[in-house]
Amino acid sequence: MSHIPAVLDDHLTSLDLSWRGYRERGGFDDFVEFTLAINCVAEHLANLKLPGLLRQCQGLESAAISLFGGRDSHPVATERLHALQRQIDTLLRSIDLARPPERTQRQAQSGRRPHRADEEWTRPHSAWMVCAAGLPWARGLQEQLEFFGFSVQRFDWSDAVPAGDAPLAILFMPGAAGYGPGELDTVRRLRESQPSSQCFCLGAEQSLAALVELLRVGADVTIAGDAQTASVIERMLDLLQAHDRAPYRVLIVEDSPTAVAMVRRALANKEIDSDAIDDPRRLLEAVTRYQPDLILMDMYMPHCTGVEATRVLRQIPAYQSLPVVYLSSEQDVAMQIEALRLGGDQFLTKPVNPVLLAAVVNNKIERFRDMQRSSLHDSLTGLFNHSAIKSQFKQMLAATSAGAEGLCVAMLDIDHFKAVNDTYGHPVGDQVIRSLAWLLKGRLRSSDLIGRYGGEEFMVVLPGASPDQAHAVLDRIREDFSTLPHAHAGGTLFTTFSAGLACCDGAEGSPDTLTRRADEALLEAKRQGRNRVVAPTASDPGDH
Ligand code: GH3
Ligand code: MG
Ligand code: MG
Ligand code: MG
Repeated sequence: MSHIPAVLDDHLTSLDLSWRGYRERGGFDDFVEFTLAINCVAEHLANLKLPGLLRQCQGLESAAISLFGGRDSHPVATERLHALQRQIDTLLRSIDLARPPERTQRQAQSGRRPHRADEEWTRPHSAWMVCAAGLPWARGLQEQLEFFGFSVQRFDWSDAVPAGDAPLAILFMPGAAGYGPGELDTVRRLRESQPSSQCFCLGAEQSLAALVELLRVGADVTIAGDAQTASVIERMLDLLQAHDRAPYRVLIVEDSPTAVAMVRRALANKEIDSDAIDDPRRLLEAVTRYQPDLILMDMYMPHCTGVEATRVLRQIPAYQSLPVVYLSSEQDVAMQIEALRLGGDQFLTKPVNPVLLAAVVNNKIERFRDMQRSSLHDSLTGLFNHSAIKSQFKQMLAATSAGAEGLCVAMLDIDHFKAVNDTYGHPVGDQVIRSLAWLLKGRLRSSDLIGRYGGEEFMVVLPGASPDQAHAVLDRIREDFSTLPHAHAGGTLFTTFSAGLACCDGAEGSPDTLTRRADEALLEAKRQGRNRVVAPTASDPGDH
């Protein structure tokens, strides 16, 4: 199954155009454009979680960067041109291999991430297991993965490389001898033939030499030999989470219009939004209004220096970790150290190299966003925490009303959970909570929202789902959860959950009303005897 959306095609077109431009004119600026275009494609591949293609693209990028030189190094020698051409062709071929044609067309028409038609609750995520015969835990891992929503095909190390649709992940499980030359070669061959899949090497020996070897042949994730099945499942389920990719926002504080124009052009080339102010006295107003992910700050401006402006910014708790990168023609090292000490993150020397600028900005923002993301997630389950699911729900509902598309929300609560804790202890209770979280992650679509609303209470939002669809999906999950054995010191236990559902058709419904109605339906499910999903009936009192 392909994971390649139409937006990548725009970047491939830019890559093609810039490469042709360079081949015709051979100028340094053309080469810069070309390198930026490769970097754009690489970023999108990283975003789409296509590690094999990303690796190829990064290889091309490194080759291009090594030829950068200066104005007088271009055009590069013919044999180097040919080598780049070959790398480009290989990359484009691999990208084409990773997508079936009908899907490409459909997505090009809609141009948006689909909710419903493309992504159904019932479609399992495919995984391959390449494992040594008779490996004791392979069967157990396969069963668990299947339970949590994967369809697993098993192969032996000696089998031919399977053909067919790319799986989401390939799990390698060597025998007792670990990864020998034969195993490494198989990993390499599968990595090459399935560039869009994530390669998990299980049973990896934890030595630097062994891990470097695995990474070299193309492993994306290595998992130690003694790691639990749980950690494998967790990493696999992480692949299913959609990562939001709102455009990066950069605020430029710079009094020179020329510098602003150059920087904005470099950022725009990389699809990074930017806004600029020429007067540092407007900084606080601009930051509040624009909510940047990063500030590019000139060192010397009228009224105050960039360092002073940054110090003021750092007085405000909300902006203490907002990355600030100085734009400076300053060569004085002592001054730069002082500026860093007073709350800046890095220096870029003007005139700024556009490739370096984009790399620094992207890297800083990526880490900043990661940090913000981790503050939205619950540490036990990795799901949205209470406040995050509430605000995500609110945002989704606002978008839904605008599009007049329906939406269902459900509240789930584990039945008689106090008894689980009291009888088997808190750690066992925690594992039960995680298992339900896994089941929801594995069985729901990446466009659905899942949050841990309270201790053993979850909130789920299903955009575009009709009440009947939502009921059916949750009821299937409810039934399966009741059959899931949870391990404890003396054996296994079983438990159930109840759920209440509330739906709106796009025109009606505030987040609070819908949440309250789902809560009431949950109470009703508990009253009716638990282990059931209750949807509001036609005679429901409705909202006020
Ligand atoms: P009911 O069927 O009515 O929901 O009964 P219940 O026993 O599940 O009742 P309730 O939902 O009120 O109980 C929640 C319990 O969950 C109480 C609390 O000790 C436990 N709990 C809350 N958070 C956690 C957690 O993070 N880990 C564990 N192990 N237990 C938790
Ligand atoms: Mg200045
Ligand atoms: Mg409960
Ligand atoms: Mg509860």
